[in-house]
Amino acid sequence: MSKIKKHSITVVGSGFVGMILAIKIAKKGINVTLIDKSNKKNLSNIKDSRTTAISQGSARILDEIGLWSKISKKCQPIKNIIVTEGISNDKIHFNSGDLKEGALGYIVDNKYLKKIFFEEINKSPTIFFRGNIIIQNIIHQNEEVKLITNKGSVVSSVIIGADGRYSKTRFLANIKYYFHNYNQIAYVFNITHSKSHGSLALERFFPSGPLALLPMKSQKNNKSSVVWTIKNLDRKNLHKFEKNFKIEFLERYNHYFGKIENFSKPKTYDLNVFSCHEPFKNRVVLIGDANQAIHPIAGQGLNLGIRDSNILADSIIEAYNLGMDIGSEIVLRKYSRKRHIDKRLLFQATHQLNAIFSNQNYFLKNARKLGLRIFNKSNFLKKQSMIFAMGLRNFEI
Ligand SMILES: Cc1cc2nc3c(=O)[nH]c(=O)nc-3n(C[C@H](O)[C@H](O)[C@H](O)COP(=O)(O)OP(=O)(O)OC[C@H]3O[C@@H](n4cnc5c(N)ncnc54)[C@H](O)[C@@H]3O)c2cc1C
Repeated sequence: MSKIKKHSITVVGSGFVGMILAIKIAKKGINVTLIDKSNKKNLSNIKDSRTTAISQGSARILDEIGLWSKISKKCQPIKNIIVTEGISNDKIHFNSGDLKEGALGYIVDNKYLKKIFFEEINKSPTIFFRGNIIIQNIIHQNEEVKLITNKGSVVSSVIIGADGRYSKTRFLANIKYYFHNYNQIAYVFNITHSKSHGSLALERFFPSGPLALLPMKSQKNNKSSVVWTIKNLDRKNLHKFEKNFKIEFLERYNHYFGKIENFSKPKTYDLNVFSCHEPFKNRVVLIGDANQAIHPIAGQGLNLGIRDSNILADSIIEAYNLGMDIGSEIVLRKYSRKRHIDKRLLFQATHQLNAIFSNQNYFLKNARKLGLRIFNKSNFLKKQSMIFAMGLRNFEI
């Protein structure tokens, strides 16, 4: 890598969030260097069988950068969401028809999403992708910041860390964060069932963790993606659990969409939270999971990251057009301030939701039951929650 001139932007991490930011900035004719520890071939062929729930708000951001028309061809809209405690009949029913803002969200295949983003990166004349880069050090030098890598160093006005939950950029920039280990594992797999999902997403809360069934696009509408969270087990109990995996799952699934015809191989994810107190320091700024990685209980992590990308891109584009220093504290603080409330609220909401439903205290159990019934009867509460979860509320300050 050679030395590059001022007004240059280096994005570390070519995941969804880093790519969205690069695409938005590049569309304004501003050069962006996008680097990743993997190469383009590995990133494009990544074996990710997961799906992602994209909120209505994120769909609108992707539409603004011209990508939604391609993504929407292959995604499954969610028209209804049902939330229950275990397999009980007490529920909260969210119906998209009550809001008139379109679908509550969309389920998209991660592989397809990545393909669309990479096509855009490849054809952009202002995005310079560099793969197989190992970042080694970050040195702040007044009006610039230097990134030392295994392939030389690069000098920029700003370094944007989009390198995920275990961000090395965050570590090298010494940006402080809160960490909590949930001691839970998420099993992610897909099922084919005998009945149609009818565009419905189901979230069942069990003391050991939530089970989410998300409708996937398929010819017969009979495929769902499953995110099943359980408490971490010691080796012996984990072995026992995995031996009885299907039986345990079927007990919780309880024939909701009929007989299961096919299970894909589950993949596991350890669950923890990272949340930065302030997402920037000395010309280094973090977005997406590098900034805040939350529990997948509400399927909101990427949506939060997309909003980070959108706001940071706006702040940088505005500063660039005004001839300001794009890595200055004023520009990065503006991004941080605008994202603060949204970030805090989602972190608290996912953290508390997980804690409330894991607690088996007798009084709390009854309070939850009553709470679900009251909530379900209140159109006001349901509409407010839908607007929040759909990413349609503006929390900017
Ligand atoms: C089980 C599960 C289900 C989920 N479901 C949903 C959902 O339905 N909806 C939703 O909104 N969110 C969901 N999420 C969260 C979502 O997956 C993440 O929030 C999102 O992928 C974060 O994207 P990112 O680009 O910030 O980070 P990543 O996707 O982690 O990308 C980071 C990129 O940085 C690169 N990188 C890493 N380290 C370095 C380095 N040192 N140098 C250079 N490059 C580096 C990586 O190769 C990668 O390309 C889920 C998460 C889990 C665990």
